Amino acid sequence: MSLRDDGKVYLEVGVNGQSTKDQNRHVPYGADETARDVVQCIQHGATAVQYHARYDDGRQAWTDHEICRTIVAAAARDVDPLAYPGDAGSLEHVWALAQRPPSGAGLLLAPFAPAQHVENVAWCEEESRFEVTERPNGSHPPYPAELDRFKDLGLVPSISVFNAVDLRWVTLAARIGILRQPLNIKLYFSDRYLSHNEPDPDVLDFLISRIPTWIDHEIVVVPYAMSSAERCQELWEHALNRGLGIRVGIGDCPAIFRTSTNAAMVDRAVNLITKRGLEPATQDDLRTRFAVADVDDSEMVRVVVNRNRCMGWGVCYAHAPEIYQADAEGYCVVVKPYVDEELYEKAIEGAAACPERAIRVELPDDVPAPGYARSVAGGSTTV
Ligand code: SF4
Repeated sequence: MSLRDDGKVYLEVGVNGQSTKDQNRHVPYGADETARDVVQCIQHGATAVQYHARYDDGRQAWTDHEICRTIVAAAARDVDPLAYPGDAGSLEHVWALAQRPPSGAGLLLAPFAPAQHVENVAWCEEESRFEVTERPNGSHPPYPAELDRFKDLGLVPSISVFNAVDLRWVTLAARIGILRQPLNIKLYFSDRYLSHNEPDPDVLDFLISRIPTWIDHEIVVVPYAMSSAERCQELWEHALNRGLGIRVGIGDCPAIFRTSTNAAMVDRAVNLITKRGLEPATQDDLRTRFAVADVDDSEMVRVVVNRNRCMGWGVCYAHAPEIYQADAEGYCVVVKPYVDEELYEKAIEGAAACPERAIRVELPDDVPAPGYARSVAGGSTTV
């Protein structure tokens, strides 16, 4: 069940980002100021906080995990510090924080931007996988290794989507199961950064329409580096009316909120939320919502559909609706890309029944076949 189904709104705060005190004197620098803002934001109703680790003089301390640890430990004395750091490509500080968290303040969320971690990949529909494209500066993996690390450390990636290209990668990654559902998507808009989505309600509607209904997700709309307060407000209102979450904070849009505090921004957002008869989601709400992202290692068998072959006969849905469903055009989507022993036989039944032989049930090459999958032991197979 989504947060909105329960009358809740995912409210995130970007407390400092790359903003400076010249832009707004309340922008927190250093661990003490940042921890203070994390506490105030959560006490005023925020669900989660994203911060940048910064030194006392304001410089970014991107991968300094000790600053991150000090911020979270200090905040944990007063609130549930559901807060996570930003990044500039390297996630070393995230791994360190997840492996050695402050007492009682385990890391749940982690930054992940396809734009930074996914190189120029191609999509191979026949194989339902990403593949490497040749580039002058050498080869690169088609599959970001960070995703396995998130899984191993029990982290939920907070996926930054800056444009329709990022969103396309995200939906394909969800389709083949390398991004585990429910997805935690941050949808960025800017009237200054041309690499970001245009802050227009129609663009927001278009992007939402591109997310297949079978992808379980939460979306938070993030106006970023905006120069128009009116357009910022319009986006928040439109997002809330569409059942989405919102992000506020003086770290995101310092040029238009020059005197506000982060706590005041949260008050403003809570007012927008409560006047719609809703309430901000709590930290427990978010932990519960994403708890189902825990990985079940028994789910080793992968199911993929070749949509170039699928003719939409629908035979597979009848055999295993838990795994196969129709998209808006009536073609097959695999809504459960990894299956365990319980669903394995049904996956095989649906695949075997497909008149177009469009479905493949396979084991990863480097994983020994579980006992229940002996019929496909020895690697991948096409049913
Ligand atoms: S049975 Fe085969 S062709 Fe028919 S919808 Fe399923 S995958 Fe597509």
